Amino acid sequence: MIDMKNMAVHYSGTELEALSNINLSFKQGEFICILGKSGAGKSTFIRCLNGLQKPTKGEIHLDSHPITNLKGEALRKTRREMGMIFQHFNLIPRLSVLQNVLTGTFGYRSSFKNMIGWFKADELDQAKRVIADMGLSQMVDRKVENLSGGQKQRVGIARALVQKPRVLLGDEPVSSLDPGTANHIFVLLKEIHERLGLLTVINVHDVELAKRYATRIIALKNGEIIFDDKPENFTGEAYHNTYESKPQHSFST
Ligand code: ADP
Repeated sequence: MIDMKNMAVHYSGTELEALSNINLSFKQGEFICILGKSGAGKSTFIRCLNGLQKPTKGEIHLDSHPITNLKGEALRKTRREMGMIFQHFNLIPRLSVLQNVLTGTFGYRSSFKNMIGWFKADELDQAKRVIADMGLSQMVDRKVENLSGGQKQRVGIARALVQKPRVLLGDEPVSSLDPGTANHIFVLLKEIHERLGLLTVINVHDVELAKRYATRIIALKNGEIIFDDKPENFTGEAYHNTYESKPQHSFST
């Protein structure tokens, strides 16, 4: 479904590549968690998949079509295939749950319709359906700024799903939540993933969550893949390799 060939990202003004030599294939139905220390390249990786960051080398293919250099309608069409959820939710606080979720349909609409905020009945029905799926039916008209963190992320997921994506991407979507709420969000994500037959790719801080829910774990270190295997094989040595600290100073004794 998604293939990356020799993908690399080098931010201008920096010495090292943020991602190097990434060769991966992701299939529909996989629930992939990306692990790695802060600065390992996880966010850059997810941003490459949804087109927010252009690789400086290599290619990404979606269903065998290159998507690295798309523009205009072709870019919008590819973005619609990929729902995205964020660590800080990226919602509009003063708008209601329903209004926030409807912004997820913008990729399907003309900018004029977006500007005047006119939605068709089927768009409203679809938005209400995904809100109900997230257990938020009682809150459709509530302003997002009055919701808890877990509720906000459920709005974020509903907004990603309303565009009927085939791929769900998450950039540390539970890092701002307490452990119980984070687990609950993963239960929801896994349930949706299975019901809709998605490809899900999520950066996560918490190794236990990745091991509990992922079908495949990929660990990055200094922009390179150092582990790509089943969660049960992410044990002591892989953990140590992924999270060990590089010495910051050399001491002379
Ligand atoms: P992670 O998500 O694992 O914390 P990132 O993908 O955010 O890692 O960052 C990978 C590397 O790229 C880091 O060294 C970071 O400082 C650098 N980096 C990220 N974004 C930029 C940017 N916009 N400009 C320059 N360097 C960046």
